Amino acid sequence: MTLLIFTLGPLFFSSLVYGNFSYDGDDGPSHWGDKYKTCLGKYQSPIDIEVNDVQPASFPPVEFSNVQSPHKANMTNNGHTVMIQIVDTDVPTVSGGPLNGSYVFQQLHFHWGQNDKIGSEDLINNKSFSMELHAVFWKKSYESSEEAMKHPDGLTVLAYLYESKDEPNPIFEPIVSQISQITSTGSIATIDDPNVLSKLVAPDIVSAQNYYTYRGSLTTPPCLEIVQWIDFIDPLSISHEQLEVFRGIQSSEGANLTHNFRPVQPLNDRTIYYNSISGNTETKPTSASATSTTSTTTTTAVPTEAKGTTGTTNAPTTVSITPTNKNGSQHSGQERIWMTSPLAMLFGIVLLLPYQ
Ligand SMILES: [Zn+2]
Repeated sequence: MTLLIFTLGPLFFSSLVYGNFSYDGDDGPSHWGDKYKTCLGKYQSPIDIEVNDVQPASFPPVEFSNVQSPHKANMTNNGHTVMIQIVDTDVPTVSGGPLNGSYVFQQLHFHWGQNDKIGSEDLINNKSFSMELHAVFWKKSYESSEEAMKHPDGLTVLAYLYESKDEPNPIFEPIVSQISQITSTGSIATIDDPNVLSKLVAPDIVSAQNYYTYRGSLTTPPCLEIVQWIDFIDPLSISHEQLEVFRGIQSSEGANLTHNFRPVQPLNDRTIYYNSISGNTETKPTSASATSTTSTTTTTAVPTEAKGTTGTTNAPTTVSITPTNKNGSQHSGQERIWMTSPLAMLFGIVLLLPYQ
């Protein structure tokens, strides 16, 4: 059965699950937990990153391979976002940073809002950005994305924040100029620019080392808690007009997809790490709307939203600079879900394939 499911692939299931969630009304984010219990987990994404509460750390350099080379890429309207996948075999990977091992590129997609003041999923000091790009990678040692999704360290998502400007960002032109070809849900187009992936995913070598990182979930159902998030701090730019083009695609309900960001979720007892460019762990980030210059040596991540949670008293009093993000005890809850509910796991994987 499992083989059959994966053989039939996203085409079959996408026809089943389009419309199973949305960003408004009865199928909106506040109701996702009704159908997808994993969306009620303790370590969900997105979150608000309070700069004063991050833990300085010094990780090995984040390194990319095969990103800079040209790739044939497709762009799909899956009813929830614009998703870009590559169709050649020279697949990019990312490693280093907080990651244990190499991760293989799967797809990238975008989140945006009704207007330019909102749209990103993660917030920084409670500030939203106009757009957020998510580049999704799966852990190579698991040999397939399907297998990787069964593990708490199965995915990493690189997140890029965009501020709206008057000037268009030329990197977005190949996408914006072809979005009219994918207005309707399920439509797909080949992107003319073979370098669009490298331009979107490979930040310059300095910015690639300047990020926040934390353990979290997919931000769409089934919200699996299998993601090491790497949020690059330095915001990029996109014009007001380019943003508006994204709002013109149709959602799975047939209306314009004017917004597709999930509200922030409780941090609970997680630690957010901050990797600086220079490795100077005494320097706090100053970009991306960091408004406070107060220096702190606290090693405890303080929950910023404790609503509806019971786990706010077990935050560690001391935290190692080196994250214990792989197989850490904080994910025992997720592992129990896998062990006790194999049907839920299979269902989750199936739903994950076309979306993420
Ligand atoms: Zn996303």
